Amino acid sequence: MSAALEGRLGLILTDLRLPTIKRLALDLCAQSDREGWPGNRLLEALFEHEINEREVRRIERHRNESGLTPDKQLSNFDFAAVPSVSKAQVMALAAGTEWLDRGASVLLFGPPGVGKSHLISGLGHALIDAGRRVLFVRCSELVQRLQTARRDLRLAQELAKLDRFDLLVLDDISYVRRDQAETSVLFELIAERYERKSIAITANTPFSQWGEVFVDAAMTVAAVDRLVHHSTILEMNVESYRRRAAQAAQAPAKRALAATTIESI
Ligand code: ADP
Ligand code: MG
Repeated sequence: MSAALEGRLGLILTDLRLPTIKRLALDLCAQSDREGWPGNRLLEALFEHEINEREVRRIERHRNESGLTPDKQLSNFDFAAVPSVSKAQVMALAAGTEWLDRGASVLLFGPPGVGKSHLISGLGHALIDAGRRVLFVRCSELVQRLQTARRDLRLAQELAKLDRFDLLVLDDISYVRRDQAETSVLFELIAERYERKSIAITANTPFSQWGEVFVDAAMTVAAVDRLVHHSTILEMNVESYRRRAAQAAQAPAKRALAATTIESI
């Protein structure tokens, strides 16, 4: 390839926003010349690289904007620690993402420390890998943001912005403050996404105590009704994983201490 053509081709590829082809063109053209590829094979090879890298960059962008903690993955979630949760069911949600098109929800219940946030984050990562968009937020922070938006008369726009996410994870719904104005934006969010876009919620309190989340009884019933319709409920009623991990770490020391005591008798 002549230097003049190379320079012009470089400019054209920059103009067309084809950075991968630009990077690989010289090498692939040389290989094509050497091996006598038909023209369509060269074109195919170049465009295939471009499209593959685009996909990788897209997924990377989605992961960066997701708010998910990188190391909370399904691969390092110990399902054996939560017998009430079916690993197969969670893996099915990760593998077949059509439930997102129906706006179905996932609700995770259990006391603090049992792995609710970890499990839903792991599912979030898997959905991003599958090409979907996920936003993980603390429920109280999102409510605050929506509250401010409503004060500024741009709640509708703020809710519309959340539409680009296939799954919105509201972490720790029970920490929402008991305040009429705050809870109604949460209700509006739930009603707005109902049967259109998925929501996942983690909660320390069962539905019976959600009166504290929504204040108004009618609003609680209406919210729970929408969330439960088309939902997967994961009950995680085990002892805190953190506490168990801490106890397990202490156990060898205790055993060693016990052994020394016995030996010394
Ligand atoms: P929750 O949201 O229910 O309060 P977290 O998801 O924050 O609990 O879990 C607490 C800590 O314990 C986190 O560091 C999490 O990674 C870890 N953890 C909890 N359950 C598991 C599990 N089954 N396998 C691996 N790590 C877990
Ligand atoms: Mg949590």
